[in-house]
Amino acid sequence: MNILKGKIAVVTGASKGIGRAIAKKLAIEGALVVINYKSDDDSAMKVVNEIKHEGGYAIKYKADVSKYDKAKDLIEYTVKTFGKINILVNNAGISKVGLFTEMEEGDWDSLINTNLKGMFNTCHTAVKYMIGEKSGSIINISSIWGNVGASCEVIYSASKGGVNSFTKALAKELAPSNIRTNAISPGVIKTTMNSWLTEEEMVTLKNDIPMGRFGEQEDVANLACFLCSDESKYITGQIITLDGGLV
Ligand code: NAP
Repeated sequence: MNILKGKIAVVTGASKGIGRAIAKKLAIEGALVVINYKSDDDSAMKVVNEIKHEGGYAIKYKADVSKYDKAKDLIEYTVKTFGKINILVNNAGISKVGLFTEMEEGDWDSLINTNLKGMFNTCHTAVKYMIGEKSGSIINISSIWGNVGASCEVIYSASKGGVNSFTKALAKELAPSNIRTNAISPGVIKTTMNSWLTEEEMVTLKNDIPMGRFGEQEDVANLACFLCSDESKYITGQIITLDGGLV
């Protein structure tokens, strides 16, 4: 359909999982996509090649978005190379499961710096260029645990709750500049992030989901694509839950 033809998109954490699916969908719809990742060069290259194989265009850019200067470099490289940035998908994220009493200060720092500050870091530079263009779409990948909180994921929940508030506030501030900001709150999506679950735990979890199954990465990608496109041009400041009815 090419609904994103001519758009320049940055997807953070796109070497695997949900970010990979989003990058591929945006590319299929005609966007030129910058595949950001932290360390897995081979997987990032594979995504670039998959996109090229399907007739799209993508490049990879390694940067730890939890570091302000690296995130700034990622956005500035994009604008220097392609002249603009129209779409920013803040997807890079990490999780850590465990009792709150067993979490350490370093866990707080790494989760908050990646999941919450990483989003601030990319937005802070990207928004300046988007304001110059009077156009843009920012999608932040949150989590249902940011909406309702999860036992044994206190810090992760706090980071995603911050993503939700940040999204709503930034949307209000940027709407007059024709920049839309929305978040997606997925439930359980099958990726390496939850590969630690045992078969038994997966069955129990599925039984708690009214639709009886985990979400697919493409479910998130399709929604992200809609939110990036003009088909959602009057939607901003929303946290859209995608969880098969779980919460
Ligand atoms: P994943 O499979 O573990 O992939 C994580 C991606 O993020 C990888 O590409 C990784 O790069 C990248 N990354 C991690 N830290 C980074 C950093 N500091 N800078 C740049 N890139 C970084 O994760 P996923 O399950 O697809 O999750 C993606 C997002 O969805 C996360 O924000 C997560 O919280 C959210 N989410 C996931 C689920 C779920 O059930 N899976 C549910 C709700 C929300 P490398 O490969 O180079 O390490």
